[in-house]
Amino acid sequence: MDKLVYMFDEGQSGMKETLGGKGANLAEMTRIGLPVPYGFTISTQACNTYYDSNKKLTGTLEDQVLQSLEKLEKRTGKKLGDTNHPLLVSVRSGAVFSMPGMMDTVLNLGMNDKTVEAIGSLTNNPRFAYDSYRRFIQMFSDVVLEVDVYFFEQYLEKHKEKKGYTSDPQLSADDWKEVIEGYKEIVKTHTKRSFPEDPKQQLFLAIQSVFDSWNNQRAIIYRRLNKIPGHLGTAVNIQSMVFGNMGDDSGTGVAFTRDPSTGESLLYGEYLINAQGEDVVAGIRTPQPIHTLEKDMPDVFKQFVETCQRLESHYGDMQDIEFTVERGNLFILQTRNGKRTAQAAIRIAVEMVEEGILNKKEALLRVDPDQLNQLLHQRIDDTFEFKKLVKGLPASPGAATGQVVFDSDDAELLHQEGKKVILVRPETTPDDIHGIVSAEAVVTSRGGMTSHAAVVARGMGKACICGCEGLKIDLKNKEFRVGDTVVRYLDTITIDGGTGEIMLGEIPMIAPELSKEFQILLSWADDERTLGVRANADNPEDAAKALEFGAGGIGLCRTEHMFMDSKRIPIVQQMILAESFEERMVALDQLLPMQQSDFTKILEVMKGHPVTIRLLDPPLHEFLPDKEELIVDVTKLQITDPGSPELKEKEFLLRKVRQLDEFNPMLGHRGCRLGMVYPEIYTMQAKAIFYAASDLKSKGINVNPEVMIPLVGDVNELKAMRQVVVEAAKEVVEETGHEIDYTVGTMIEIPRAALTADKIAEEADFFSFGTNDLTQTTFGFSRDDAESKFLQHYIDEGTLAENPFMVLDQEGVGKLVETGVTLGRQTKPTLKTGICGEHGGEKSSIQFCFEKGLDYVSCSPYRVPLARLAAAQATVSNNTK
Ligand code: ADP
Ligand code: MG
Ligand code: MG
Repeated sequence: MDKLVYMFDEGQSGMKETLGGKGANLAEMTRIGLPVPYGFTISTQACNTYYDSNKKLTGTLEDQVLQSLEKLEKRTGKKLGDTNHPLLVSVRSGAVFSMPGMMDTVLNLGMNDKTVEAIGSLTNNPRFAYDSYRRFIQMFSDVVLEVDVYFFEQYLEKHKEKKGYTSDPQLSADDWKEVIEGYKEIVKTHTKRSFPEDPKQQLFLAIQSVFDSWNNQRAIIYRRLNKIPGHLGTAVNIQSMVFGNMGDDSGTGVAFTRDPSTGESLLYGEYLINAQGEDVVAGIRTPQPIHTLEKDMPDVFKQFVETCQRLESHYGDMQDIEFTVERGNLFILQTRNGKRTAQAAIRIAVEMVEEGILNKKEALLRVDPDQLNQLLHQRIDDTFEFKKLVKGLPASPGAATGQVVFDSDDAELLHQEGKKVILVRPETTPDDIHGIVSAEAVVTSRGGMTSHAAVVARGMGKACICGCEGLKIDLKNKEFRVGDTVVRYLDTITIDGGTGEIMLGEIPMIAPELSKEFQILLSWADDERTLGVRANADNPEDAAKALEFGAGGIGLCRTEHMFMDSKRIPIVQQMILAESFEERMVALDQLLPMQQSDFTKILEVMKGHPVTIRLLDPPLHEFLPDKEELIVDVTKLQITDPGSPELKEKEFLLRKVRQLDEFNPMLGHRGCRLGMVYPEIYTMQAKAIFYAASDLKSKGINVNPEVMIPLVGDVNELKAMRQVVVEAAKEVVEETGHEIDYTVGTMIEIPRAALTADKIAEEADFFSFGTNDLTQTTFGFSRDDAESKFLQHYIDEGTLAENPFMVLDQEGVGKLVETGVTLGRQTKPTLKTGICGEHGGEKSSIQFCFEKGLDYVSCSPYRVPLARLAAAQATVSNNTK
C-alpha cells in the first residue's frame, strides 16, 4: 500500500518532493530537536491522487489520516473532539516550492460548542477559548465553506459599535459568545447548512480544501510567474495548535536571520504580544520590531536567537522563520530559505564563507544569476513613491530621467548643451542613431523587442521602452498624450526599461555598482568555471565595459552599427546606390579608413583578447530611407516643386529602395549572400581589420582578430568568403610587411549549416552559434511577428513553456547546436565553439552550453557577471552530481 501520510518524525529536509517545503522542514526541525508542535504531513502524491479520483479523498487516504491522527493524539495526550482534553490542530498547505500566502491554512480546527468549553476551563480563560472559536469559524468558513470574510468582519464591527468598543481585546467571553452565534447564522444563510460541529468532518473538509487551493486563481498565477509546474501538487500539514493569544506571556512573530534587503547579519523581523499567527500579516495591529522582544521576554529571546543561528548554519542559508510563544514557551512553526534582494544574496553568500558556514562552492550556488540584472543598471529607488503613466515593452533594462525630445537632431543639440534627454519617437531608423547616442533612453510607440530602437539601445546598454501603444505622439506639436495627460517638448519624465513603465517627473535613482562582495564572489566563480565568457560589443566603450565586467574577449562585434553614424551613412548609401563596380569602389575606399579606425580602437582596448568581428549582415535597404516616407516626399514635391533636382534625387532613391525591397528580408539578401554578390564589401571590411591589426602590432600592442562570416548555409559560401578574407590578408601583409595572426570562422544560424557542420568545419576555424537567428530559422518564426502576435498566447496556453528567444529551446534549437558541435569536431577536433546572442546571458542556456562542451558564451557586457556566475554554477553542480 502506498504511504501517503508521514508523521513529523518520519521525514527530513531531503523529502521536499513528497512532503512539500513546509512539511519537509517541519520534519527536519523535529529531527534536530527543535520545539515544533507535533503533527503529520499528507504527501503531494495524495494531492495528485485526489485530483485523479475526481476530487475525492480516497478510502486509503482517509484510513491513513485517521491512523496518524491517533498517533498524534497519543503523543499529545489530547483527542480531537474530546470534551475533557480536546486536541486542536492547524491544517496547513505546503507545496514543494514555497508559494507564500498563495494557498490556504486553517487554524484552531477541532473547535465546537463542546470543546470550546473544555478549552475555556482547562486554560481557565474562557475569553481566549471563545476568541479562538470565532477565529476558527471565520477562517474555516472563508477557506472551506467559501463564505466571504467580509460578512464576519462587518458583523464584528457592528457588535463593537453597539458596545462602544474600539478594539478586539475589549471583547469579553460573553461578547465573543454572542459574536459566535451571529457567525453561525451567517454561515447558515450563505451555505443553507449549519456550521459543521463534528471535528473529523471538519478535518477532512479542510484537507480537501487545501488540495483545492492548489488550483485557485492566485496559486495558478503565482506558479505561472515563477515557472512552477502544475503537476507537483501540494502537501497538507496537520499540526497540533499552540497559542500565542493566551495573554501577555504569549505572542507570535516572523523573523529573517539576516536583513533581506541589505544582507546585513542582523536579526530582522517583528512580533505581536497576545496574538495568533495570522494577526501579524493581517496588519490589524502594528507589530513590534523583533529586538524589543529582548525586553518583553528575555529568556524566550535568547532561546530564539540561538535557534535562528542553529537553523541558519544547519541549512547553510538565510532563514525566514515563524514562531509562537505560548505562556513563555517558544515554538517554531516554520522555516524556509528567505527571499532576498540581489544585493543581500551576494553579501550573505560571501559573509557566510567568511563565517565558516559555507565553502566557496556552496556560496556560488546561493545566488541566483537572474537576480544580478537588478544590480548592473541604474535603477529606480523603490522606497520612493511614484505614479505610473503608461507601460510599453521592457526592451532594454535600466532607468533614466530626462527631458522629452521628439527628434534626433534636438537630442544631439541639447545633449551637447549638457542636458539629459529622452528620445520619444513612433519608431527609430538608422537616421536616428545620433539621437539615440545622445539620449539617456529611448521610447517608441511602435515596434517590438527587436525593433531598431531596442537592438541599438541594448547594444549600448541604454534603457529603452518599445511598442508603447498607449502613447499618442504628435510630432508636429511636439507632444504626446496618454489619455488626458499631455507631455510636451522638454517636460521631464522617468522611464524604467526593466519594467516598461513611464513616469512623470524625476525619480531618485540608485547607481549600478559591482560591490566589493560582488567582486569577491565573481573571483570565486572564475576559479571554478571552465566555460569562457565573452561579450557582444560593437564599440570601444562597450568593449571597455566588457573587460571591466570580466569578459575574456568579444564574441560578437557587429559591423553594421559602425555604418550608421550620421557622417558615414551618406557614404554607405552612395555605396549601395552605386550603379557600377567602379562607383561602388569609390565609396568603399572612403569607408575603409573609417572602419579601420573603429577596429583599431576596439582591438586596442581588448589588449590581445580575442575579438570576433562579423562582416556585414543586414539587408542593404536598412541603410536607406524609409519607403513610405519617400513616397510621401516625392508626391509632395511633384505638386509643389515638379522640376526640382531634389525631386529627381528622391525619385532615384525611391526606385532603388523599391529594387531592394524584399518580401521577407529576414530570409532575403543578407549575411554572406551580400558578400557573395558584392565581394568588394567584405574585402574592404577584411582589409580594414588587417590594417588595424598590423598597425597595432607594429606599435607592440597584441591583437587577436577572428573574422566571422554570417548566415552561411552551405560550405561553398564559406569557402568563397574565406578566400576573400585570405586574399585581403595577403595583400595587407605584402603591403605592410607585418605577419598577422587571425582566424576565419562562421556563424551557425541556419539549420542546414548545423546539419552539415562536418563539411563547414573544413573551412572554419571556429563556430559561433547565432542562436537568435537559429531560433527564428528553426521554428520558422520571425521574432518580431511572433512576439507581437502569437508567442504570448502559446506561452499562456502552455504550447511552449518559455519564449525560445529568451531561453534556448534545448529540444529543437539545442539539438542543432549539439549536432553542429559534434559534427564540427569530427572534422576538426580543435574547432572552437561558442554562442552569441541573448541566450549567452541566460542561465539555463549557459548550463546547456557547458553540458554540450562549448568553449564559451557571449552576451551583452552588462550580463557578463551573470554569465560568469552561471558558468561557475554549471561546473560546481556538475562536480557534485
Ligand atoms: P502561510 O503559508 O500562508 O504562511 P501557514 O501554514 O504558515 O500559512 O500558517 C499561517 C499562520 O498560522 C502562520 O503565522 C503560522 O505560524 C500559524 N500557524 C500555523 N500552524 C500553527 C499551529 N499549529 N499553531 C500555531 N500557529 C500556527
Ligand atoms: Mg507560513
Ligand atoms: Mg544572424
